[in-house]
Order: sequence, then C-alpha cells, then structure tokens
Amino acid sequence: MTEAREYDVVVVGSGGGAMTGAFLAAGAGLSTVVVEKTSLLGGTSAYSGGACWLPGSQVQQRAGIADSTESAREYLGAILVDPDPVKVEAFLTHAPELVAELEADPALDFEWLPFPEYYAAPGRVSFGRSIQPTNVKRADLPERVGSLVRPPVERDRAGEGGRNTLSGGQSLIARLLDGFLREGGTVLTELPVTGLVLDGDRVVGVAAMTPEGPVEIRARRGVLVAAGGFEGNAALRAEHGVPGDVAWTMAPAGTNTGEPIEAGKAIGAATDYRGVGWFCPGLEQVDGGGSFTLGFRSGLMVDAHGERYANEALPYDRFGREMAQAPERIPSWFVFDSREGGRLPAIAMPEGDPAEHLAAGTWVQADTIEGLAEKIGVPADSLAATVARFNGFCATGVDEDFGRGDDEYDTFFAGGTGPNQALTPCTEAPFYAARFVLSDLGTKGGLVTDERGRVLRQDGTHIPGLYAASNSAASVFGGVYPGPGAPLGSAMVFASLAVRDM
Ligand SMILES: Cc1cc2nc3c(=O)[nH]c(=O)nc-3n(C[C@H](O)[C@H](O)[C@H](O)COP(=O)(O)OP(=O)(O)OC[C@H]3O[C@@H](n4cnc5c(N)ncnc54)[C@H](O)[C@@H]3O)c2cc1C
Repeated sequence: MTEAREYDVVVVGSGGGAMTGAFLAAGAGLSTVVVEKTSLLGGTSAYSGGACWLPGSQVQQRAGIADSTESAREYLGAILVDPDPVKVEAFLTHAPELVAELEADPALDFEWLPFPEYYAAPGRVSFGRSIQPTNVKRADLPERVGSLVRPPVERDRAGEGGRNTLSGGQSLIARLLDGFLREGGTVLTELPVTGLVLDGDRVVGVAAMTPEGPVEIRARRGVLVAAGGFEGNAALRAEHGVPGDVAWTMAPAGTNTGEPIEAGKAIGAATDYRGVGWFCPGLEQVDGGGSFTLGFRSGLMVDAHGERYANEALPYDRFGREMAQAPERIPSWFVFDSREGGRLPAIAMPEGDPAEHLAAGTWVQADTIEGLAEKIGVPADSLAATVARFNGFCATGVDEDFGRGDDEYDTFFAGGTGPNQALTPCTEAPFYAARFVLSDLGTKGGLVTDERGRVLRQDGTHIPGLYAASNSAASVFGGVYPGPGAPLGSAMVFASLAVRDM
C-alpha cells in the first residue's frame, strides 16, 4: 500500500443511494468520503428520471394525492413475493422521515410526479405516488458540482456534456452532491474499490487501485457499499443467469461490474436475488447497445414467429420479463407504421437517428407488412395475420389476446383516438420494424442486509462495519418492481438507515 487515509464513513459508489448516505453522514458531522471508480459521479442514477418511490411523505401530502404509509403497506403486501417483513416495514416507516430530513436542507426539494404504479393491486395510488427532485439550473450550482455530474444518457453516450438545466436523476445527484460538499465531504474519483480491509472480523476500510498502485482508505464507523449491481460483468451475469447482455444494459460503460459485491462475498457476506434485474425492452442501437424504451403509443411487438406475446403497454420491467421467457423473443421486432413520420412511437433513451437505424439494419422499412416480414426474416403469412388481428382489436377497442389498454398504466402514454386509447391500428404505409433486445436498468441481487442496512452473513449475524444499499444489496422488493422510483427510493432509504446506524 502506498497511501492510507482515514474517515468516519467511506461510501463506495456515487449513485442516488450512495450520495444520500454521504450527504446525511456529512450533515451529521461525520467525516465522509465518496469513492467513485470513474471520473464522473452519478452512474445510472444520473441517467434516471429521478423518480423516487418514497411513499407517504410530506410531498405527496402537499400534492393532495391519496397516498399513505398504510396504503403503500397494503400495496406491497399484495405484490411482493416472500418478502422480509422487518425490512419492508423499515422501508415504509423511514421513507417519509427521509424525505422530511432531506427537504429540511435547502439543497433538496421534491415534487409529485404523475406516473402510474406497475401493478393493479390493493393500495395502488391512481397516477402513482412517486416523487422527484425539482429541476436545478447549472448556473445556480457550484461549478465543481456541475462538472462532476454524469451527463444524461443520450449526451454521455455521444461524449457530450450535460444540459444547462438539470432534471430528474441529474438534479438528484447534483443536489445531494452540492449539500455533501457544502458539509465538507470529500470526493475521490477514478478510484475503483477492489476489496475490503478487515481488522479481525470488522470491516475497517476499503482497498482501491490508483495508477500509482493500491491505496487503503480507512473507515472509523463503517463502509457503505452502494456501487451499482454487476450488470456490466458478463461472467457474473452468466454465473447467476441474469437474462440480457452486458452490451444491452443501461449502466454507463465501465461502471458496474460488481467488485464491491464480490468483496463482501469474499469475507463471508450472504447474497440473494442474483439472477434478477430491473428489466426493460431495449431498442437495439447501431453499435449493438440497448436503449431503455417505454410508453409505446402505437405499433406491436412480435417474436421470431411474427407473433405477439404480451401487452406491449405493460410496465417495462414486466414486459422485459415476458421477453426473457423464450429465446425466440430476443431479439423481438417492434412493428409500427408511418403515423409519426417514421419515428419510433415510444420513448427510447436514446432513440438514435432513424436514418442511421435504417442504414444499419436495426430498423427496416417496407411498403407492405409482407415485405417487412421478408426483411426481418419472419413468416410473412404469420406477421400479416398478427397485424390484421391486432388491427381488428383496435377497431373493437378490446385486445382479446393480452388486454392492452385495460390498465391505467397502458393508457398513460398512449394518445390513441379509437375506442381504446392504447390500441391504434398499424395501417399507414410505409411500415417499419425496429429490433429490440432485453435491456436492464441494473441488476438487483447483491449483499443481504438487515433493516439497518448492515450486511449479513449466511447465519444471519452481521459483519461489523459493513453496510450495503442500492443495487449492490439484495432488493427489499425481491424480484418485483412496484412502481416508478423503486430502485432509487429503496436505495436512498437503506443508505440513510445505514448511516443512521453508523
Ligand atoms: C434512462 C433511465 C431512467 C431511469 N429512471 C429511474 C427513475 O426515475 N427512478 C428510479 O428509481 N430508477 C430509475 N432508473 C434505474 C436506476 O437509475 C438504477 O437502477 C439505479 O440508479 C442504480 O443505482 P446504483 O446506485 O445501484 O448504481 P449507479 O447509479 O449506477 O451508481 C453506481 C456507481 O458506483 C460506481 N462504482 C461501481 N463499481 C465501483 C467500484 N468498484 N469502486 C468505486 N465505485 C464503483 C459506478 O461507477 C457508478 O458511478 C432509470 C435507469 C435509466 C437507465
């Protein structure tokens, strides 16, 4: 080791959970360092919409919506499979406290975000209960904050800088970082954590790698691992059977490869839910990457047989899970018509240039459905029958096969004018097909933690000094994605509880 430094709290990673923990720790007077692998802060969280599923808070009350801890408890009770009830209760109890604590600081400010929850279950709030940080102007932030926040996905992938107004996840990371630096927190970038430092059975720091050699960063109170999942690690994905592909994940290139989770495992931590991710259909890009896509306004998704297999308007994680059910669904083809001038009738982050897609073959175009079928290599009679049947459902307003349009989520993004807003016929030539792969917003299996964010061993005892949150920890929601903001909301709550314990 060439260097040793010591803080009260060492936070590994810089997503929404990590920065919440860091900000609260520094605010409580603890000397705190954020150790980030790349040159920029925020990871996938900075790409995100910044929606936070933090039920029952003062923000929902201000907005006058029918949200409460009780209804959130009922909702989770209806949808979670075999949850840890103590952790679920800790989440529910602490979410409103956390929002109040954050909003007590001038750096943080949230508003309700209308966005339906992902299951029609008791306790669901119509149009959702998620909140998001309000926008912030770059000019109103210290220069260092603006320069450290990872740009939005479409600009980051293109090698461009961030916008003048930071919204969603950009705002979340910027606001937390602003508060953290103001409280005297330290940020160390380009410092990948490679291992944990032990004193007996207690974690007392992390080992990290610099170009000059390894360094040790010591933690007097504890280490919080909140450094994403392992979505960017092909070997670990294969080992744990995570569907999808490293090339198709939404995590920024070179970020989340799971070393901090493996480091915990190496000292005896239990792990769980390792085959699971926050999934979504991914519009394939010309470079082979995937783009998180949601909110299909028209068109239909077909498999290699030219057949539909699910309600295309399902919440994206649920659609992604449908894709993962059978190999002939990856890739799928999204068939759409010209009613939006040759653009994809959906929200894809990023969409890419239609002309480049057509040149690369990730999109094809034809004057007839049969011609389209030939270009994408699916049986023409099958695709023609599928589209005809779908168009029939659009005329009657009833999707007899998959119930598209039956749920409030289905119609939230769709602006159709027929008898069913979510069912718009595919009739206007020329026709297009866009290739879709299975993407993810991160894996959600990792270190097993308790209701205080402490990392547990297989026998249920905790490892002193080690805490985990975000996608580095096994999700409190298990394999379920309750609603918009569940990744960030749960990450923030358990990071906060971890810091409180420290
Ligand atoms: C377009 C888009 C929109 C989304 N919208 C939402 C939304 O509105 N609400 C929501 O809740 N979720 C949303 N998500 C999902 C959500 O952003 C992620 O699942 C979540 O932010 C992951 O948080 P994290 O802290 O686990 O990882 P990240 O935010 O990816 O942060 C991990 C950080 O840790 C660093 N790191 C990794 N390994 C190491 C190491 N060894 N040493 C040091 N640092 C390391 C990485 O470089 C990275 O900066 C969205 C995702 C995308 C792509």
